[in-house]
Amino acid sequence: MNFSNSIIQWYLKHKRDLPWRDTLDPYKIWLSEIILQQTRVEQGLPYYLKFTDAFPTITDLANASEDIVLKHWQGLGYYSRARNLHHSAQTVRDRFQGRFPSSYSEIISLKGVGEYTAAAIASFSYNLPHAVVDGNVIRVISRVFGVLDPVDSMFGLGEVKSIAARELDLERPALHNQAIMEFGALQCVPVNPNCRDCPLSGVCYAKKMEVVKEIPLKSKKTAVKNLFLYYAVVKYKNGLFVKRRDSEGIWKGLYDFPVLESETPILEEQVLSFFNKEYALSNQAVLTDISPAYRHLLSHRKIEARFFRFEVNNIPSFSLDKANWFSVDKILEKGVPRLIERYFEAINLYK
Ligand code: SF4
Repeated sequence: MNFSNSIIQWYLKHKRDLPWRDTLDPYKIWLSEIILQQTRVEQGLPYYLKFTDAFPTITDLANASEDIVLKHWQGLGYYSRARNLHHSAQTVRDRFQGRFPSSYSEIISLKGVGEYTAAAIASFSYNLPHAVVDGNVIRVISRVFGVLDPVDSMFGLGEVKSIAARELDLERPALHNQAIMEFGALQCVPVNPNCRDCPLSGVCYAKKMEVVKEIPLKSKKTAVKNLFLYYAVVKYKNGLFVKRRDSEGIWKGLYDFPVLESETPILEEQVLSFFNKEYALSNQAVLTDISPAYRHLLSHRKIEARFFRFEVNNIPSFSLDKANWFSVDKILEKGVPRLIERYFEAINLYK
């Protein structure tokens, strides 16, 4: 997939016309970014126009009194942003001779400018290759690439950042960054994103796995438990043994294979010895394959499943009283968890 190209094409068709997108002036871009930090575009736009009108250059802003700056900010909230803005304008006037700094390290040294804002200014104004990572970007990346660690943890956020850097279009960082942010703001929105009419729907992990509502994961919001599933996929002639989950819990009423469930990972030998004990498979079955791990996400469960495939020449004793042998097509007609469907899609032995 060319992720960057897809979102840039989407952006060129759908982008909103906003005044800070028509300029390369770092002062105006910085101003817009600070205004938009905790503010919606519709609310921030009149303030942006008011500021650029009252203070056309950064030196005009630096020379204004703090009272006047705060007066212009009135109604926007989070007043520390206005104070930092004023302070940084004076830094630019005094330390950088009134010229907005042009390197990432100098930009991020300004008060009130964090990693995201520095990357936005550096890329939008100077086309420097720094990937922006804000809430919109976190959502898009974690959904499309399937980040299954909480994005409010160091690890999850680190994963998002490294994908963002890897996927950045180094030839067009400004356009790429604008595109991914706008894509998150308009298309891949937090609730009810427009997956049906999305250029990434064919490759998007969250869409494919039907976990759009769950991603991005937040550790503080929901305690997501690990669940390790070890399935015994037993084949007899053209049929596989399945059983219906009747007990309460995940997948009630759906069909899957005999399973060993655990909240911690289990060694292969232990899984096999469980199957032997529980189903006496060692005497009657040949182990033909152990699948790699399939990761799957439910709202409160992070699942990792492995499939142990066996073949038998006679109906095994554990299933004698149950006529639960079906072809894959018949099993799919009955209703199985998406995880099992994925397994069937990945193998074609039973077709
Ligand atoms: S398919 Fe849906 S979840 Fe995936 S990127 Fe598109 S809008 Fe977002």
